[in-house]
Amino acid sequence: MADAVDSRDRAGPGATAGPVTVDTVVAGGWLLTMNPQREMYRSGAVAIDGGVIVEVGHRADLLTRYTPRRLIDAPDGVITPGLVNGHRHLLCCAKGAMPEGGQTLDALRQFIYPSFAALTEQDMYVHAQHSAAEMIRFGTTLFEEPGCNHLDAVLEALASSGIRARTGPWTWDQAGPAGATDLPDWLRMDAKAALRRLADGVEQVRKFGHPRIRDAVTIEGVGTCSDELNRGAAELARDAGSLFVLHKSTSEREVELELATFGHRPVEHMHEIGALNERTLLNHMTSLDDRDVGFVRDSGARISQNPSSALKLAKGTTQTGKWPELLAAGVPMALGTDAENVSNHQDICRAMQLAALLPRDARRDPRAVTAEQAVEMATISGATALWMHDETGSLEPGKQADLVVFDTADFDWRPLHNPVANLVYGVTGHSVDTVLVGGDVLLDHKKLTRVDEGELREQVEQINRRVLAEIGINPEPQWPVL
Ligand SMILES: [Zn+2]
Repeated sequence: MADAVDSRDRAGPGATAGPVTVDTVVAGGWLLTMNPQREMYRSGAVAIDGGVIVEVGHRADLLTRYTPRRLIDAPDGVITPGLVNGHRHLLCCAKGAMPEGGQTLDALRQFIYPSFAALTEQDMYVHAQHSAAEMIRFGTTLFEEPGCNHLDAVLEALASSGIRARTGPWTWDQAGPAGATDLPDWLRMDAKAALRRLADGVEQVRKFGHPRIRDAVTIEGVGTCSDELNRGAAELARDAGSLFVLHKSTSEREVELELATFGHRPVEHMHEIGALNERTLLNHMTSLDDRDVGFVRDSGARISQNPSSALKLAKGTTQTGKWPELLAAGVPMALGTDAENVSNHQDICRAMQLAALLPRDARRDPRAVTAEQAVEMATISGATALWMHDETGSLEPGKQADLVVFDTADFDWRPLHNPVANLVYGVTGHSVDTVLVGGDVLLDHKKLTRVDEGELREQVEQINRRVLAEIGINPEPQWPVL
């Protein structure tokens, strides 16, 4: 906030000096700050210097008082904070190739885990680049990666992409209530080795020292991890000021398994063993009861919900989810798109639409989740869920210049009376025109500035074909191919 005061002192009314030179001004039509008052500007602009937001205000005012080295001017554009993807795997499996008909636990064992196991270090580098590029193209500036392999290659790829991220190494001890049957030998280890791998992961990310990449303590969950590992990981994240990330309460089958094994539902079991704290990010959480909501609220834990993934895997989230209750309880919640084959997209605009609409139908209540709450989840609440809200998630002086300019010159954005309604109900990420992270332009008029899209696509296609052959999946269409 001090930067804003300084700039006003230097250039405000009564100041003798002329306009202040800054790196960039992004000027638009509507601007959503997502600051604590949720102020919006009609004809807004953001002044940026050194990658940091200096001031947010009316375009005419800022354009008078600042001389930008680069002016990004979109008089009809809608400017928002960069979108947050709270759950996106970089361990990917060929998009569109997952056999139909599997629910969570079957899909994991038959397709997803074997795909992960087949990825080499070079594959991970390419997938991380490709995934980051796709996210940036659709307006995501920060994401949480819930456990990758070949972390060194991933860190290099993310650093080159320019995106902001949290990540850690894929970890499990295969000693959870779902048993080890059908789990691959890939990365098999006991709890002690797993905890060592997690601590090493935190250290590796910190040593890498990239200002946009933070560490996370990432275990798989979904019944594959012991109590010792859960508890140890939660403690490690809390003590290190990191984020404990795991999949939890992801299906009714998982709930039944934990009830049979522990006598408690998954969230209550986390509470019972002391593995739930304010540094915990629980992914999915599609099968909850009211007591689960209380455990999450009281512990200060955070959540990512992944609506496309929940629908595709038939998790029953409209019946067994508690999204309105979690929001009412003030739980910081992010939206996510999960793995490559369970959302088949990385568009947080689509996630916003589902997050706003599904609970309304489920409850027959058109106010169950509001459009404003959906935008909060995609921005400031998502950043809070990831413990990144001091840096990003809103457009405020002193925060990193992570923002999106939407191009509104198309049918889905027009007429434009209330940009929140258009953003949640009407548009997709295809209307994202320009994306800045830390003041760097990573998408310029729908063109990625740091990668060759065509080359990346070709590399990913080749990796996918090899992996599918290795795991024995032939994704043929159901209809005759002539
Ligand atoms: Zn996941």
